[in-house]
Amino acid sequence: MKRSSSSSDAAFRWPEGRRAALSFSFDDARASQVDVGIPILDRHGVKATFYVMLYNVEPRLAQWKAALAAGHEIGNHSLRHPCSANFGFARDSALEDYTLADIEAEIVEANARLQELLGQTPRTFAYPCGQTFVGRGAGCASYVPVVARHFLAGRGFLSEPFNNPALCDLAQLCGAPSDDLSFAELRRRTEAILAEGGWLIFCGHEVGQTGGQTTRSEALEEFCAYVTDPARGLWVDTVAAVAEYVRDQRGKAND
Ligand SMILES: [Zn+2]
Repeated sequence: MKRSSSSSDAAFRWPEGRRAALSFSFDDARASQVDVGIPILDRHGVKATFYVMLYNVEPRLAQWKAALAAGHEIGNHSLRHPCSANFGFARDSALEDYTLADIEAEIVEANARLQELLGQTPRTFAYPCGQTFVGRGAGCASYVPVVARHFLAGRGFLSEPFNNPALCDLAQLCGAPSDDLSFAELRRRTEAILAEGGWLIFCGHEVGQTGGQTTRSEALEEFCAYVTDPARGLWVDTVAAVAEYVRDQRGKAND
């Protein structure tokens, strides 16, 4: 049955009269996230989601345990970071060579190893490179259903600018880059969701002052102060916290 988007939008309410939701996420467990990023987030009381690679967590296990204890979310980002063979780094873990059984086994193993290391099983997943397929051509298949079976939510990358909370698919949420943006550019993207009641999930990699794939530390500091100002009416929380609220609100709407 076709649903009217306007009626379902009208039925959706963010908690405590908030106008929109925003989540910060950072991928791959780069060292600068714990060294530079988390201290900034913690100064502002912002809880973020980190989609980690095990091989980067292990050398800095104490810092990642502390991040979890401070209320940040640790999510699954696979074990081998499989992406299209077009990425040079993915030649030996190319999604074109994966089957659905391969990707499911890898995701389940990453969950088990994170549970072992951190004492908590991830509740959300981020698709490496934002890519959601395995195989090629006539044999290509989406692994979104695999993620839907194992997680509350799955986050993509470089797709739509933000999510409609009444209608979005929690198993393939849109993620927008925070890397290499000025404070003004981060704010502009946030004003768009405030106008529409959306849920914006930022995705970053490094956190620092220079370099590519880097969320600028000064911009992040200023932006954290901006988004946590109660006058904004923004709900800032982890992907899991917002996804759980969205799921429960929709459940109530369908009762
Ligand atoms: Zn990644």
